[in-house]
Amino acid sequence: MKTFKGISASEGIAIGAAFRLDEPDLSFKPRKIEDVKSEISRLDEAVQLSKAELFNIHQKTLEDLGKYQAEVFNAHIAILSDPEFFSKVKSQIRNNNDSAEVALKSVSDGYIDTFESLKDDYMRQRAEDVADVMKRIMGHLLGVELHDPALINKQVIIVAHDLKPSDAAQFVPKYVKGIAADLGGKTSHSAIMSRTLQIPTVVGLEDVLAVVENGTQVIIDGTKGQVIVDPNQDQVDEYQAKIKRNEVHQSELRGLINKKTASLDGREAVLAANISSDSDVAEAIENGAEGIGLFRTEFLYMQSLKLPSEDDQFEVYKDVLQKMDGKPVTIRTADIGGDKSLPYLKMPKQENPFLGYRAIRLSLDKDEIFRTQLRALIRASAYGDLSIMFPMISTTSEFDQAKLIYRTERKKLIDEGTKVGQVKLGIMVEVPSAALLADQFANKVDFMSIGTNDLIQYVMAADRGNEKISYLYQPYNPAVLRLIKNIIDSCHDKGIPACMCGEMAGDPVAIPLLVGLGLNEFSMNAGAILESRSLIRSLDSREMITLADRSVSFYGSSEEVKNDVTHTLSGDNPKTYK
Ligand code: PEP
Ligand code: MG
Repeated sequence: MKTFKGISASEGIAIGAAFRLDEPDLSFKPRKIEDVKSEISRLDEAVQLSKAELFNIHQKTLEDLGKYQAEVFNAHIAILSDPEFFSKVKSQIRNNNDSAEVALKSVSDGYIDTFESLKDDYMRQRAEDVADVMKRIMGHLLGVELHDPALINKQVIIVAHDLKPSDAAQFVPKYVKGIAADLGGKTSHSAIMSRTLQIPTVVGLEDVLAVVENGTQVIIDGTKGQVIVDPNQDQVDEYQAKIKRNEVHQSELRGLINKKTASLDGREAVLAANISSDSDVAEAIENGAEGIGLFRTEFLYMQSLKLPSEDDQFEVYKDVLQKMDGKPVTIRTADIGGDKSLPYLKMPKQENPFLGYRAIRLSLDKDEIFRTQLRALIRASAYGDLSIMFPMISTTSEFDQAKLIYRTERKKLIDEGTKVGQVKLGIMVEVPSAALLADQFANKVDFMSIGTNDLIQYVMAADRGNEKISYLYQPYNPAVLRLIKNIIDSCHDKGIPACMCGEMAGDPVAIPLLVGLGLNEFSMNAGAILESRSLIRSLDSREMITLADRSVSFYGSSEEVKNDVTHTLSGDNPKTYK
């Protein structure tokens, strides 16, 4: 038994068998062979097994996740069916008496080098595909099992070194009970995906992968940020009892699904959901979301092998708006860059990707991609209550340029006779310059949404994905709170709504402060909505205003503000949520 402390990335408890998401050992000793014929048939057999496996993965991915995610496996099957590639491998076996492993590696490396040297992004992506296919065949040649996340067909706990958003996008959620990872921070995008999928997750564990075998029993305590490897029976019993208690609590919360979100003294707020795809909408509705406060559309782009077309996007946005049935939906234009890259899009190598060419900066530069997305959005606006927001706005001029492009495309569509609806235009406030000049932005926009995940990383100068400095993710730091107050006050001065869609909006310590600061809309992962509604219904907003005033004028630390909140909520007059 061993206990690891990490960073809580998604609440909840899971108990199950580990599934290591690691790089298999495919090393081999180069050797010469004598029997060419049997070496070639060994290669053919490995190729056939790989092909059968890929057909299976392709089919399963198609059924569980959809055609975008399945497409990559088609590309792999195409490589396995390439006669030129394999005739080169076979010639090397025949001419040099090399083993199948040696010949396969040398031919694949040649292809990979050529693809990597090409300027075209699509071709460069082929290098990764060849490397993946080579690994699969090599696994069969060496008798090493590859642990394919797409092939998981029973419930497991994923244990990884570094869980990338692209890995998480391949999971079939119903099979992933929990996740433990050595690297990562609370607001890294894979952590956010875990919360969206409500998978208990602990990251930043540093060296958990090293001690876990496939099948080892693991307990994930996403609430405490703790992982127990190979627990004893007492621990399993204790956690099973906790899971039962959680289930009872969750079923009590379900009574709030259709209730209003208002404080004890009647101050109302909107609780909305953050989503990454149209398939997340059902979850949002089931959890009582009063709207969608953030649709991270870049995942549409990431799950595809090429840029999604206007029509493809239109169908997705329309679907979300129709499913939300008149409730407000805020869709963010693609926030590409940072830790979210597109393999098929040519991107310069950047020293500081989070401070670099990303989000609106990239959209304004590659405006044909931006225009396609805006056209799809404008067409979809006929089907519901749509707001569009732009990510990572630093200057008012960026907003002006984005709005001009929006207006041009809207006019073109109207001239073409396309049906369009009313659209509100807003910005995400995630850059300190925009937070400080919120009053200027308030003259121009219809709403603002505070992206605290980025805002906090820029205010504290602390990479949101780096577990070594995760202590600097400080939502209650008075520096952060003062900026948030400035944004909310600026919105209210101009009579526009102040929203928040960063992770802070669903944080039970931050919510009392945000109620006190007067935030209008809280957008969060669907799983946090009912708990947040229960909390807000237990608060007196007048008390929260005093608490928030104290916090922004405070000369203390984030920790002291947190203690003040906890004390105010439970101090002399303990409250129970209802
Ligand atoms: C944020 O930065 O708070 C936000 C909501 O956007 P993302 O997490 O996608 O960067
Ligand atoms: Mg952001």
